[in-house]
Amino acid sequence: MENKLYVYNSKTRKKELFEPINPGHVGMYVCGPTVYNEVHLGNVRTFVSFDVIYRYLKYSGYKVRYVRNITDVGHLTESGEDKVLKRAKLEQLEPMELVQKYTNMFHEMMSIFNTLNPDIEPRATGHLIEQMEMVQEILDNGYAYEKNGSVYFDTLKFNDDYKSYGKLSGRKIDELLTETRDDLKNQDEKRHASDFAIWMKASDEHIMKWNSPWSVGFPGWHLECSVMSTKYLGETFDIHGGGNDLKFPHHENEIAQNIGARGVEPVKYWLHSNMLLMNGRKMSKSDGNTISPYELFTGESPHVSKGYSPMAVRFFMLQSHYRSTLDLTDQAMQAAEKGYKKLMDAAHILNSMEHPGKGEVTDKDKKILSILEAMENDMNDDFNTPKALADTFELVNYINKLKDGHLDFKEISVDTFNKMKDTFVSFVYDVFGFRKEAAGDDKGMFEGMVELLITIRNEARANKDWATSDLIRDKLKEIGIQLKDGKDGTSWSKVG
Ligand code: AMP
Ligand code: ZN
Repeated sequence: MENKLYVYNSKTRKKELFEPINPGHVGMYVCGPTVYNEVHLGNVRTFVSFDVIYRYLKYSGYKVRYVRNITDVGHLTESGEDKVLKRAKLEQLEPMELVQKYTNMFHEMMSIFNTLNPDIEPRATGHLIEQMEMVQEILDNGYAYEKNGSVYFDTLKFNDDYKSYGKLSGRKIDELLTETRDDLKNQDEKRHASDFAIWMKASDEHIMKWNSPWSVGFPGWHLECSVMSTKYLGETFDIHGGGNDLKFPHHENEIAQNIGARGVEPVKYWLHSNMLLMNGRKMSKSDGNTISPYELFTGESPHVSKGYSPMAVRFFMLQSHYRSTLDLTDQAMQAAEKGYKKLMDAAHILNSMEHPGKGEVTDKDKKILSILEAMENDMNDDFNTPKALADTFELVNYINKLKDGHLDFKEISVDTFNKMKDTFVSFVYDVFGFRKEAAGDDKGMFEGMVELLITIRNEARANKDWATSDLIRDKLKEIGIQLKDGKDGTSWSKVG
């Protein structure tokens, strides 16, 4: 922790020195998924970004408590329907069954991308009592009102007292007052268009509903994060993260609720990651400009020429800063795949290399030390993964030169070599979070076996022996290896 970490705080719009409330400890909350459908690549980008942040904080020596929630109730669609409920009806599943199904799939996807598990993963439906308590606190403080069994947050009253509604997202209350951000059926119950529901009375056909002092109903979406973050991290905690599309209204309303209930700002540093695009446009299901993680792994999509491994995708994501948009293109994925392979080859070489002893401190030695320092400086500068990766590649050049004999071990001291080994390995696996593959030889053998099977299959195809060719393809698929035939031959990727 000797090095100083700076983080960009969305609330102040500045890079600030990171000083946790409780020295040596960090409380971090990240808005998790709404589990009503399969996680998409955009979500994955956000969770990978915060995974690297979590990993780097740990690498820096902090004891981190990372809380990421599961939204399983209360997140409404544009037309005011509960997202979970709507989908449960469509799939003819009990809402909890649907939620479990997509929670499991989300966990599976997180593990495919090698993200670390949060320390606590609370669910909205598991915190109904606490949410009702917060509604009551806000009511008691006069920042909410009840109407026909629903409870609304009074944004105008809150802003009159605290002058801060809209500050995070840079909105003006005067404009918000005339703008409706939700499409609740009971708009006329609200005093001002910018007010939002913190408790909603449920209609008869609504299945997920609970008894409360105000009505049989369900909590507003923003409430769960206000409640669960502070329950597990304290009334004020260090980092709150999420995609930047959540700044408004979700995070703005979270702040208002916490202050409205307890009179204190909940978060010291707000961190927001940027959106994933594809071919220069926002990924969107409605106009077909979308690709699922599995389609990207198998290459079964018109947007890519072949499949890419999850770790190549992770590498691609780290090549941009978390606050920049990231544009997914086939070309960029091909480059990322090559880069990832080069990096892992170097890691493998370095792992099996020992300094023979007798080295000296030379200019090259000093240069390596300065690169190691730069890697940490990059990460200390608001988690600049693209720069840290670029610096890591400077080490890759040195590693390859050592291997090829273009650089003599004599030109590097034993200390520097060992330091390079430690830092390189820690960055690749612990900070960037690339998966530790089986020992190099096993990996080489495994890849060789797959290539051999592809060769046998190609022979079979040349002989029009479709039965053998299909058998190899299908059996490989069963064990998680997807083959894809393209104009340049057959490629393969691991799925799952
Ligand atoms: P949701 O499940 O829609 O609540 O989203 C879960 C997380 O993914 C949130 O932090 C969102 O901001 C984030 N997210 C949604 N779409 C994208 C996207 N296209 N790119 C990056 N992050 C996204
Ligand atoms: Zn949230």
